[in-house]
Amino acid sequence: MNDTTRKGRKALIVGGGIAGPVAAMALRRAGIGAVVYEAHAGGADNAGAFLTLASNGIDALRAIDAHRLALSEGFPAPRMAIQSGTGKHLGVVPNGGTLPDGTVSQTLKRADLYRTLRDEAVRRGVRIEYGKRLLDAQITPDGGVVARFEDGTEAEGDLLIGADGIHSRTRRIIDPSAPGARYIPVLNIGGYARDVRVQAGPGTFRMVFGRRAFFGYAVHPSGEVWWFANPPRADEPTSAELAATGTERWREMLMELFAQDATPAVDIIRATPGRLDGWATHDLPSVPTWHRGSMIVIGDAAHATSPSSGQGASMAVEDAVVLARCLRDLRDTGQALAAYERLRRGRVERIVAHGARTSNSKAAGPVGRVLRDLMLPVILKRVASGGSLAWMHDYHIDWDEKVTA
Ligand SMILES: Cc1cc2nc3c(=O)[nH]c(=O)nc-3n(C[C@H](O)[C@H](O)[C@H](O)COP(=O)(O)OP(=O)(O)OC[C@H]3O[C@@H](n4cnc5c(N)ncnc54)[C@H](O)[C@@H]3O)c2cc1C
Repeated sequence: MNDTTRKGRKALIVGGGIAGPVAAMALRRAGIGAVVYEAHAGGADNAGAFLTLASNGIDALRAIDAHRLALSEGFPAPRMAIQSGTGKHLGVVPNGGTLPDGTVSQTLKRADLYRTLRDEAVRRGVRIEYGKRLLDAQITPDGGVVARFEDGTEAEGDLLIGADGIHSRTRRIIDPSAPGARYIPVLNIGGYARDVRVQAGPGTFRMVFGRRAFFGYAVHPSGEVWWFANPPRADEPTSAELAATGTERWREMLMELFAQDATPAVDIIRATPGRLDGWATHDLPSVPTWHRGSMIVIGDAAHATSPSSGQGASMAVEDAVVLARCLRDLRDTGQALAAYERLRRGRVERIVAHGARTSNSKAAGPVGRVLRDLMLPVILKRVASGGSLAWMHDYHIDWDEKVTA
């Protein structure tokens, strides 16, 4: 099969992050050709960051037989032990669910996930073109689509899938009045510390609601400590300000923020070699229009959740697989895209709302903090025992099930 398949359909996929390569693989499995157009010349954004692919995301990758890739990187992280900055233990909750074969959530470097998915897509015959930043797209009289890129080139296909992330260009092409990303008042910084001793059992993320900021860490099987911090920040910083801050300033600021907490945060930050970068946190609560004609947005481009939900990557994978099933079973593109929205909107918006609540608790003021520390043990107990997040983690995609209009 080349870019266009025996059935003659070809999708232009904009964005080679997570949703893009997975959509391309899923479409090929569904008998539809796909080419991925990625803005960057190669490599990945936010190379320093890591993420947790929840069990439902791994399960969705399994639908297209691509789950082993994710499991071959990083380490399993099925639990979160939550504590306050005073050292008070607040509870232990599952970090994702457990699949029937025992597979649990996996924490891995974002760059490694991007690379593995792209490599596998290419191995399965998908063409990925780099340095192709989408500028504009138009629906053609025959219902197809023409995409125009910053380098002056064009591409033609039967449909265009915008998997171009939270600041998606495709979203605005589909609907010029589409909302932009919403700032969540915490920053994100992370890193990998070496030669520092911390108490954290294998597979457990320690999450600390510190006096002044949130801190999370886990120990990689190599002994490296993977950590992130969420300093509160009421007004949105510009990217120029973030870029100008510099590693030493970030380090000083973080060490000051965590100095009073009964956690190893300061030691971990001190033991982190290399560059530190901080970035603003956003989500995207509700995008009214996901598709127009033969164009659609998926993944963060359609519904970004705050990193606190631990679900953005999993949502992106689920979207890609479900969209491929819809396009496989419904020959009419309009019907397929409408069926996709019907299957996805309720779920993803519920997850975005859940992520926003979790993020807000990280930015609580002094009174909020006291209430939070009182309430959290009760809430966490419910989560730990009653499986109150089962709706999120137990979602399963049956690849063979037929989608109807
Ligand atoms: C700090 C942080 C921590 C996170 N932690 C977690 C976590 O623990 N668990 C989790 O599940 N999720 C997490 N997430 C969210 C997760 O990373 C995203 O939800 C996920 O990457 C979305 O995938 P995507 O493919 O939709 O978009 P992206 O991964 O953003 O990919 C979009 C791609 O499109 C490309 N692109 C953009 N514009 C254009 C254009 N005009 N033309 C062509 N290409 C373009 C970009 O270069 C990029 O490669 C975290 C996010 C952040 C910021």
